[in-house]
Amino acid sequence: MKFQPKASHFINGVYVEDTNGAPIDVIYPATGEIIARLHSATPDIVDQALTRAKNAQAEWAAMSGTERGRILRRASDIMRDRNRALSILETHDTGKPLQETLVADATSGADALEYFGGLAASLTGEHIPLGGGDFVYTIREALGVCVGIGAWNYPTQIACWKGAPALACGNTMVFKPSETTPLSALQVAEILIEAGAPKGVYNVIQGYGDVGASLVTDPRVAKVSLTGSVPTGRKVYAAAADGMKHVTMELGGKSPMIVFDDADIENAVSGAILGNFYSSGQVCSNGTRVFVQKGVKEAFLKRLSERLATAKIGDPLDEDVNFGPMVSENQLNIALSYVEKGKAEGARLVFGGERMDGDGFYMQPTVFADVTDDMAIAREEIFGPVMSVLDFDTEEEVLARANDTEFGLAAGVFTNNLTRAHRIVAGFEAGTCYINTYNLAPVEAPFGGSKMSGVGRENSKLAINHFSEMKTVYVSMNDVEAPY
Ligand code: NAD
Repeated sequence: MKFQPKASHFINGVYVEDTNGAPIDVIYPATGEIIARLHSATPDIVDQALTRAKNAQAEWAAMSGTERGRILRRASDIMRDRNRALSILETHDTGKPLQETLVADATSGADALEYFGGLAASLTGEHIPLGGGDFVYTIREALGVCVGIGAWNYPTQIACWKGAPALACGNTMVFKPSETTPLSALQVAEILIEAGAPKGVYNVIQGYGDVGASLVTDPRVAKVSLTGSVPTGRKVYAAAADGMKHVTMELGGKSPMIVFDDADIENAVSGAILGNFYSSGQVCSNGTRVFVQKGVKEAFLKRLSERLATAKIGDPLDEDVNFGPMVSENQLNIALSYVEKGKAEGARLVFGGERMDGDGFYMQPTVFADVTDDMAIAREEIFGPVMSVLDFDTEEEVLARANDTEFGLAAGVFTNNLTRAHRIVAGFEAGTCYINTYNLAPVEAPFGGSKMSGVGRENSKLAINHFSEMKTVYVSMNDVEAPY
């Protein structure tokens, strides 16, 4: 098979297999062809990974931040050197066009390794004077063994966004990729070893939800970082709470994008395209509820349809193609079922809506207009290329409607009125907001959700606080006064 790795798991610096685990077929979404067969981790594999990660942690944490950082930065350089090969692998794993994977996957992972590698040497505690010569100092300590659990839409990026800050702080990691896209995390593990990471610092094991669940409840694990859906997040958060473990939850969304009638319509259409159809709509922060002020609604829909008609849909390995298949037949069927719901609920289908011919999991980019707040297509995360356009009259009305959701991952506004833009953003109930742009996620900026969309933040200096904790040390320079 074309992309068969040496074995399913990567533990303590080497590939490890246990064929007793349930099979995992890796399917190329553009053709339906099986490109690799892996096995889910057995309890023995889970135990091996956690034991090795636990054994490696003290030595890794004892290295200086400069040394740890150097290894991460070397790994970043290797990833950039191999970007094309890694992108081709990512395209086979996910179906995303090579045009996208060349700039948004291994490169984003490399950014995280470089950024947190750069920070590693500066991670310190502080000195706090108490008066009379007494003082406190704090020591920033690693948490221990961290578990990362990934979703299937950005497999390389997620493996690095979790691994890089964890390792920079002196933790070790056991990472479980999504069973749908298990291949690229193995490459990240190999590259870290090549860059000089000690064995056992970053391990990858494959598996379905039950393997993830067994990692979360293991007493050797200090922290769990999940990227996934809200229902999974709820289960993982509850299981982690039982062991009082640290968590980061990067979950789903149904984010609003507001287009006022004074906006630059061409830019607003560009934002709506990026925020609904990049990666065939399989992006957590997508602005899938597009509120367009009534005065510009028809002009917006006209330009949107004209530009969608120029999308190049096809073979994701062709670098001119900018819209690929969905990740799996299952995800395609979920998205198509929402198209039927939208029609049944009375929304107006203005573009797309059909599955495309062939063996791949392709559907057209799809736009519904005249969507109302109570429709399922406006309330539930679809995680596919289905945009809902809703009308509005006033600023006050649209902000209330934009926030009327259990989710709070992202939100965007397009307007040329400066004060209105900042007023709207101040009112958004969302972790990541955009003014006159959409869906950027550079490593320098915190990323994460409010409400049901998550807990904690990835990227930026803030991620350090989610992968380390402070030890407080009181020091007396005076005699100890006791009452008796
Ligand atoms: P999912 O929730 O089905 O699975 C996510 C991961 O959790 C997988 O690796 C899965 O095997 C594992 N898992 C499932 N049940 C588990 C359990 N009980 N215990 C431990 N692990 C378990 O999500 P998905 O379908 O892979 O990904 C799509 C979802 O991810 C969408 O909701 C999307 O919005 C979200 N997402 C969020 C972000 C973010 O940064 N906020 C980024 C990407 C995707």
